[in-house]
Amino acid sequence: MLSTSGLTKVFGGFTAVNDVDLVVAEGAIHALVGPNGAGKTTLFNLLTGFLSPTSGTVRLGDREVTGLPPERMAHLGVARSFQIASLFDQLTSREHLELALQSLTGRGRVFWRSEVQMHRFSGRALELLDEVGLADQADQPAGTLAYGRKRALELALALALDPRLLLLDEPTAGMGIEDISRTIDLVRRVAAGRTVVLVDHNMDVVGALADRVTVLQQGQILAEGPYEQVRQDPRVITAYLGED
Ligand code: ADP
Ligand code: MG
Repeated sequence: MLSTSGLTKVFGGFTAVNDVDLVVAEGAIHALVGPNGAGKTTLFNLLTGFLSPTSGTVRLGDREVTGLPPERMAHLGVARSFQIASLFDQLTSREHLELALQSLTGRGRVFWRSEVQMHRFSGRALELLDEVGLADQADQPAGTLAYGRKRALELALALALDPRLLLLDEPTAGMGIEDISRTIDLVRRVAAGRTVVLVDHNMDVVGALADRVTVLQQGQILAEGPYEQVRQDPRVITAYLGED
């Protein structure tokens, strides 16, 4: 589904991602883990077109997509969860989804839209909110949602693209136990029929979700395999203990 070859990103002399060969199988939930600063987010940005690599390639199926911008990647069926910073406090959850759906019609550059037009997307918007457990808060301004609910809204926005490949960067970051277990259920549900790349620092989340785990350290692949195997790998244990 997704693969990289020799993928490398250098920031002013510092190599954040170093010669990474990654293969993500179709239909898998594939986790990228590693200590802080390992290069997870940088790799994630390279996979989604938010950064261009210094060298190496990214492929989606047979197609080379290295350096394509995020909107081109989105058209090829690749979506990432939005950042909370991209939510508008005054718009309701439903309005966020209506805007996202409207933008997919190809008339996304028109800033002003009539109420009538927007309501064309109301039904689908509610379906997506229901999928992430937000139907009850459809008409609540995003600014008033609790943290975990904002993250659920971001996920709904990514699902609006109906992606084949969904990339999630630390979906449980900053969450309490209750929201974490809710998010695990949610990710499992939206992963059906899709490929998911999940970046997470929390090994419990990864253990609950991932079919396959790639461990990064200092920009390089340290270990890769099923969770049960990787968590027992002495090099992985050392990498995590070293962080503490
Ligand atoms: P992780 O997500 O695994 O915590 P990051 O990919 O965010 O790691 O960062 C990896 C390394 O690259 C860190 O040392 C970080 O300081 C560095 N880095 C990330 N982005 C930039 C940037 N835009 N400019 C310079 N250095 C960066
Ligand atoms: Mg990160």
